[in-house]
Amino acid sequence: MADGGPTRRPIVAANWKMHGDLATLTALATAIRDKTSDSTTEVVVCPPFPYLAPIGRVLDATIRLGAQDVHFEPEGAHTGDVAAAMLADVGCRYAIVGHSERRTNHGETDELVRGKAAAAMRAGLRAIVCLGETLEQRETGETEAVLERQLSASLRGLTADADKFVIAYEPVWAIGTGRNATPEQAQAAHAFLRERLSSIENAEVAASVRIQYGGSVKPANAGVLFSCPDIDGGLIGGASLDAASFAAIVNACAG
Ligand code: PEP
Repeated sequence: MADGGPTRRPIVAANWKMHGDLATLTALATAIRDKTSDSTTEVVVCPPFPYLAPIGRVLDATIRLGAQDVHFEPEGAHTGDVAAAMLADVGCRYAIVGHSERRTNHGETDELVRGKAAAAMRAGLRAIVCLGETLEQRETGETEAVLERQLSASLRGLTADADKFVIAYEPVWAIGTGRNATPEQAQAAHAFLRERLSSIENAEVAASVRIQYGGSVKPANAGVLFSCPDIDGGLIGGASLDAASFAAIVNACAG
């Protein structure tokens, strides 16, 4: 069933980054499952690689499993990397690509991010493609130019089917800082991305693609952010490590 589409289904994803251990993350996944099972919002949890399979076993049909990264090749001599088919094999439905921490810490380029998004889609995963400007870029008025470049390069030739990818607008200055974008800033960026998608692909795709906001989303600010017309949910870091906070964010997103 399509989740992107003219009536976009909201989506909230937990990015657990490199936190936790098997016991704590299993308990967290179980609590999130129990607290969000009635939600109409699509809920995704993205554990560290070693915990994908065990966490997948405690989830039920109401929550989807996602990976935090994927390699761009289908297989081969890539020590330490993980292929999209392997992720699908252990139950993943999503893969985050192009997170700003990977762009910064691993020098990932738009071209590499595009390869990862393509690999995820080829394996039947939905790619959550992250993009966003730095503080310096915002302060020098480059936000739209950066978003335009990242959007067109990271998803070049991949935008025909709105159900195969999700965009996460994550201003770098808002990630893990406690300083979220204002609803006005986030809505403006999301509307800009949707307008650019219309130009790159067509109006139907632009209206159908889900665009998440990420960057210091908490229960206290989720409702106002998610009520913006072009914000279709969130990618949540810190607050996703607490089941009550994450469930409150999911429930703030009720479509
Ligand atoms: C993230 O890492 O994608 C993120 C949005 O983190 P936080 O919610 O902690 O800002």
